[in-house]
Amino acid sequence: MIDLQVTNMIRWDAHMCLPLHPQASFTPIDQLRSAGSNYVSINVGMDMNPVSQILSVMAGYRATIAAHPEKYALVGSVADIERARLAGQIAIGFDLEGAMPLLERPDMVALYASLGVRQIHFAYNRDNSVADGCHDVERGLTALGRTMVQAVNAAGMLMDCSHTGRRCSLEIMEASAKPVIFSHANPLALVEHGRNISDAQIRACAATGGVICISGVSRFLGTPNPAAHDVARHAAYVADLVGVQHVGIGLDIGFSEAGLDDRPPGDFDPRYWWPESAGYATGISGIRYTPVDTWEKLDAPGTMKVLQIVAETASTLQASPTRPEFQRVAPSHGQASGPMSATSTGSGYGPYFGSIPDLGEGTKGVKFADVREGSPAAKAGLKAGDIMTEFDGKPIQNLYDFTYALRGKKPGDEVRVKITRDGKPLEVTAVLSRRE
Ligand SMILES: [Zn+2]
Repeated sequence: MIDLQVTNMIRWDAHMCLPLHPQASFTPIDQLRSAGSNYVSINVGMDMNPVSQILSVMAGYRATIAAHPEKYALVGSVADIERARLAGQIAIGFDLEGAMPLLERPDMVALYASLGVRQIHFAYNRDNSVADGCHDVERGLTALGRTMVQAVNAAGMLMDCSHTGRRCSLEIMEASAKPVIFSHANPLALVEHGRNISDAQIRACAATGGVICISGVSRFLGTPNPAAHDVARHAAYVADLVGVQHVGIGLDIGFSEAGLDDRPPGDFDPRYWWPESAGYATGISGIRYTPVDTWEKLDAPGTMKVLQIVAETASTLQASPTRPEFQRVAPSHGQASGPMSATSTGSGYGPYFGSIPDLGEGTKGVKFADVREGSPAAKAGLKAGDIMTEFDGKPIQNLYDFTYALRGKKPGDEVRVKITRDGKPLEVTAVLSRRE
């Protein structure tokens, strides 16, 4: 097993929702902190929320954070997260779901950034003057949208493409000079839903250096009562497609609180934002979350179990000469039910080496449990017990280093591999083949 209890690992949730009310209780954040999480991004508003509501929500959240420096830190950089972790605080960033709170003014981006907003997507399910929503007419990123992408890049905010139209999201990723994320979105190849994202979107996101964070929402996971292994299955799909370094978690758990009305003021029509035609037959209220509905039930060992399953599944896939067959299922809450016949297998996929990592060893480098017969690793004379320390000139400390190094090569490439065998250094040359 991979030892994930490493001290320098940052555990984070890319998106969660408290009641959009200045007096919202931070109990769920406390529970997340007790569970061992180091960073969480909290939603402060969507396209349906007026700026007046968003500002009062941010004021309230900021006051709560400032009143408890022993527990919370509003952060602006990775170094801040590290400092917060060492101080026993949970690091917090805010996120906006939609560009409408920017009031069509690119300079609003920097203002929100100064108030603690660290990530933003441009459209919440529906089209606006900046971008397309995933449940609306496809038009593409607007001219104003391109300017907004630059403003987000310049403000050091994360550009997010959740809830965004497919074509528009590809154009945002094209336009962005910095890595783009999906803070809460799941693979379409596994579950047919307008909110889920295609392989092309996942690949484009990874190509920016971004991360696809798996949502814990039942509808998008394709099961009425999702559990940790459902999240792991979706994470494994993304890991297999683009590499484990591009997978994250954004469970999107939403909390409500008795006595706090957090609905947008005025004429608010939930059927517009969550259209029945897109499969929200029972509105958003019919949604369940995974792995649990409250953080009280989520403990650190539970989180570690999810990560363990994801890491081991990804490692197993990495060692396999063929891609697994994933089966697409119909959404659990929609009209249709039961498995659909479509499968997504992909083909002609990346370079193949053929070593099988020994997950039980805490050694520096990657120890081989075995090598696959006839694989490039076998042809190069590598065998069980060898410890890889360098691949193609890159030092290999762990499986992730190797994954990265391998993905940088093409089938047919010749690579030099340094190993340690019985304590002695050895160097071999391998010709990578194609993984099919
Ligand atoms: Zn959302």
